[in-house]
Amino acid sequence: MALANKDSKILIVGGGGTIGSSTALHLARRGYKDIRLLDIFQNPSLNSAGNDNNKMAGDDSAGIWGQLGTEAWNMWTTDPVFKDHAHNTGRLDLTSKPEREARLRTRYQGIVDEGRGAGIEWVEGKEQIVARAPHLAHADLTGWKGLFVKNGGWVAARNALNAVGHELRRLGVKSAFGSSGTFKELILGADGRTVTGVRMVDGTEWCGDLVVFAAGAWSPALLDLEGQCETKGWGYAHIRLTPEEAKKLKGMATTYNHELGFIMEPEEGTLELKIVNEFAGYTHMQQVRPFGLNKDVLMSVPRAHAIHPTDTITTESLEAIKNLIKLWLPDLVDRPLFKMAMCWCTDTVDMNWLMCEHPKYKGLVVATGDSGQTFKMFPVVGKQVADLIEGKLPEDRKHLWKWRPGAGDNGTARGGEKAKDLSEVEGWRHDPVIVKSKL
Ligand code: FAD
Repeated sequence: MALANKDSKILIVGGGGTIGSSTALHLARRGYKDIRLLDIFQNPSLNSAGNDNNKMAGDDSAGIWGQLGTEAWNMWTTDPVFKDHAHNTGRLDLTSKPEREARLRTRYQGIVDEGRGAGIEWVEGKEQIVARAPHLAHADLTGWKGLFVKNGGWVAARNALNAVGHELRRLGVKSAFGSSGTFKELILGADGRTVTGVRMVDGTEWCGDLVVFAAGAWSPALLDLEGQCETKGWGYAHIRLTPEEAKKLKGMATTYNHELGFIMEPEEGTLELKIVNEFAGYTHMQQVRPFGLNKDVLMSVPRAHAIHPTDTITTESLEAIKNLIKLWLPDLVDRPLFKMAMCWCTDTVDMNWLMCEHPKYKGLVVATGDSGQTFKMFPVVGKQVADLIEGKLPEDRKHLWKWRPGAGDNGTARGGEKAKDLSEVEGWRHDPVIVKSKL
């Protein structure tokens, strides 16, 4: 059954971010006339995990995620809003660890069995890897193997978010940012369960027939999700290349290793090479009271770089990033690191989205649980939300993304490691010293 019609008032909390703005785009393209984005920041939201030079993307999975990956890469490369931001450099997913190798082999076989083998290759050993990634010519690749995804590479993330923001304005989507766009609570009707709107931190009330809740890593701290999402942060840093170095890396395949991290071609014009280290992520535990609970609870909440611009990354992330440069790009090992920050995602226990009607509230759709891998789905994630709203989401997808309270994130989805808390690690915090006047 459809949850809204084309004249319904639709409010999108987190509308400046990835899932929220994608949802608005699909609804607006389908002719929904009254959509309002609500966010702390204007698109592209400074808080969005997608507000970044670049992200890995590509058609690299089997099953439902494979169907979505194919659709997404197709839209990345053909849709007028997205196509200028996609770079088909190919993507390597490599490992030297047997457990990860087994997962990659299963994925490879799954893709081949679905008849999509032409888009993927199994690579093994230095010669085969360097043939697809000449930038690794000086790297130690002993025992390395994995996937080479042909239909993929990277996407200019911030520019794509910005392009969608422009398109939404062109399509007449309304918005409110700042304190009147910052969600505080749901407004419920007399029955105590029908959502009639949202109240913002400055007291503004927005009436709506349907609320889409897509506040990314902030979601579990704002709305009771019954422990289904755990918010975590990861660090990244950049090195500046000379024009000659950038030219040499032009067209380089995106290179990912589950134990080490990833690099991509520097975004054109910036000469900035971004490096992200891969690990279980950090929590940032705080007492909060999400809407729907009547007491404070301890949970991980983002410590946003936009709000704490002096934060950098932890010493151990910095060391891991330096190590990755030493292993992969030894010629650049002494280059200073800059633009270091943490960015925040929210993981579900099985890394599948939480995308469904909220079982307690009528007129509320949750669209979160990005699990650190949703930017590549930017063009299509909102299509799933729009299909859900129109009652058209296929049963298998509905099942995968259903409300499923349980133990929260026990770490298994990211290889068994439990995330450390930021309070246990050093190097990231550089709060400005406030000098109090004696007068
Ligand atoms: P966001 O895009 O973060 O949007 C959430 C929005 O909610 C924000 O705009 C925020 O301002 C808003 N909000 C918060 N609180 C409120 C409030 N009270 N009221 C109103 N609005 C609010 N994915 C990939 O596919 N490929 C990659 O290579 C990749 N690399 C990554 C590297 C790093 C370091 C990180 C951290 C993530 C990476 N990701 C990658 C993950 C990807 O960026 C996220 O999965 C995706 O952007 C999350 O989308 P979202 O819409 O859930 O959240």
